Amino acid sequence: MKLDEINIGPYDTLLLDRDGTINVHLLDDYVKRWADFEFIPGVLEAMPKLARHFKHIFIVTNQRGVGKGVMIEADLANIHKRMVEEIEKAGGRIDGIYYCTALSDEDVRRKPGRGMWEDILRDYPEVVAERTLMVGDGDVDKEFARNCGIAFCKVDSMKKEKGIYKWVKANDMEVIILAGGLGTRLRSVVSEVPKCMAPVNGKPFLYYLLSALSQYPVGKVVLSVGYKRECIMDWVQEHRREFPCEIDFAVEATPLGTGGGIRLAMEKCTSDAVCIMNGDTFFDVDLEQMKKAHEKKGQLLTMAVKHLKDFDRYGTVSFDKRGIVTGFNEKRFCEDGYINAGVYMVSDRTLLKDMPERFSFETEFLQPKVVEGRIQGYISDGYFIDIGVPEDYARANEDFKDFGTWTKRK
Ligand SMILES: [Mg+2]
Repeated sequence: MKLDEINIGPYDTLLLDRDGTINVHLLDDYVKRWADFEFIPGVLEAMPKLARHFKHIFIVTNQRGVGKGVMIEADLANIHKRMVEEIEKAGGRIDGIYYCTALSDEDVRRKPGRGMWEDILRDYPEVVAERTLMVGDGDVDKEFARNCGIAFCKVDSMKKEKGIYKWVKANDMEVIILAGGLGTRLRSVVSEVPKCMAPVNGKPFLYYLLSALSQYPVGKVVLSVGYKRECIMDWVQEHRREFPCEIDFAVEATPLGTGGGIRLAMEKCTSDAVCIMNGDTFFDVDLEQMKKAHEKKGQLLTMAVKHLKDFDRYGTVSFDKRGIVTGFNEKRFCEDGYINAGVYMVSDRTLLKDMPERFSFETEFLQPKVVEGRIQGYISDGYFIDIGVPEDYARANEDFKDFGTWTKRK
């Protein structure tokens, strides 16, 4: 698989080769001093994103130049010190550098031997092979990964648009969660908190949303908050380390409607691939596949739809053979139909900049765009629940008991 097709979501530890992966590989020579060291274009830009996603980032590098006597260990230490400084200056992070100076290919510490991996496991007991990814440019890196039982992906170009930079770009998704819901219909069972904070098996509903997102390459989540926001913000403050992404807030001082809330949250986004979802529904749609489908079809917005039978709680969505949404139908009993599951994918964070400050996303934005034929439907049969009414809220408590086992997607 190509590097830019690798989803970083399931991994929490990244091993990076150095020469040819982070810095330009010198032909038939060693990087002996800082002046020889040249970052591959795009690597420094990519490092902050990687730092946000991965709990651990280590460099594993063979440095036979020391063993051969063309440089000394102090030169290597100086190069690494300067390299880390530059990465940190760019907003990135390296948690450890493991290197082997041995001459002999038989040395177990030299890649493809397992030695450096054993050192990491000793120094960081929380690191596990199943969640570790090795990225490097050489066959030796591939063999090393195989010997360690970890996933591997090859960097096959030192051009900016093809290397690590492209990988990070492909993995760049930001998610807006609309968490300002008032929870009017839930007040009979949950009175003190916004809907996304309704407790489900002792954890707020938001916990499940954020946990499910950690399977995907999501760099940042923006929570659009308003009603009783302190409760959400306090909980996130306390638990943010449990999730691999950055979590930010877009605060509505006055209610801005669903559209105004999304527009405000989009101002906090920095990438163009933005996914928008409701804080009171859970839809287990494969966001990576949905993003790919969205990019392939090239429409303004892709809407996830879910097939339901015998229901009257939701309006339905009609679409044509190409999957273009052609209309929304009002709530009434329906034997068989597709509903808007409230998960949207867009590829332009300035999409709503010309809309008024306060507006309804559904009626004032989606509806006219449907008329223009600019909305793509994306069918998924993933698990769906809307905790907005007491009976489904009760069902969520039952369904989420074994949450950890049914959401893991690799
Ligand atoms: Mg290399």
